[in-house]
Amino acid sequence: MHTTWPQPRPIDAIDRAAKAAAHASSGQQTDAGDRDASESDVASDRPVPPLPAHDWALFLDVDGSLLDFAAQPDAVEVPAGMQEHLAALAARLDGALALVSGRALATLDVLFEQLQHLPAAGLHGLEWRSAHGGLHPAPEAPESLDSIEAEAQRIAAAYPGAAIERKGPSLAFHWRAAPQAQDPFRAFAAAALRVLPDYRPQFGDRVLELRPEGMDKGAAVRAFLAQAPFAGRVPVFVGDDLTDEHGFAVVNTLGGLSVLVGDRAYSEARYRLPGPAAVRDWVREAVEAPPSPRTHAS
Ligand SMILES: [Mg+2]
Repeated sequence: MHTTWPQPRPIDAIDRAAKAAAHASSGQQTDAGDRDASESDVASDRPVPPLPAHDWALFLDVDGSLLDFAAQPDAVEVPAGMQEHLAALAARLDGALALVSGRALATLDVLFEQLQHLPAAGLHGLEWRSAHGGLHPAPEAPESLDSIEAEAQRIAAAYPGAAIERKGPSLAFHWRAAPQAQDPFRAFAAAALRVLPDYRPQFGDRVLELRPEGMDKGAAVRAFLAQAPFAGRVPVFVGDDLTDEHGFAVVNTLGGLSVLVGDRAYSEARYRLPGPAAVRDWVREAVEAPPSPRTHAS
């Protein structure tokens, strides 16, 4: 059956909504949140973070932070040695290391087959697995998402390299390999939001997702920190994209460290690493370094 879509909302309106949502999750204003967030907020002014200390609770985004982007999400490569280094660092932190990704948990477990024992959050926090193996699943998708996905696939078919990714109740529009698909995807997504109650847009690096309201990466960090072995540790969040701002805001509020990967201008992060290779080196150096004393968070 053909679906008639309402007129899309202006794109800048949903951009503003996404930015406001990133701020709202902090619960209270942080020092960074009090500043006017603007393009003059130069990423390269941020210092390099110290090496992970033994009393940290470390939360790591995956794509664009641990892994280099590929043209398609399923084409990423996991560099040799990375999983061993992450497992060793997790052991050094008494298990207080979690992957916090926009990917589904099931996909993370395929990608990192040596790390399936680690706590992790998928779908930007909609689903998460505790250190004790307890699984908190994502909500069910509404029935209407199937027809929206089918219509999205029809649009994507006109732009070679563009991709629609269904992730449980979430739907992602990827245009990394097809920049011309950006405008039609955004217009379609804005219209689709009108028929998806309790959904919100999640903007990212050449990707836009429609996903249920509720948990985000910051909420996932808070959930982990409520439990052993994360509780009582210095929370540190490493991420590259807008979805990671929720994590940055929470760790800033809790006196932890926020680490931006890359050179995106707008961010509440207070530290910076230049790219995924630098994050992998940072992890490796932490594993190879002698055990460190307590951190001295600012
Ligand atoms: Mg990322």
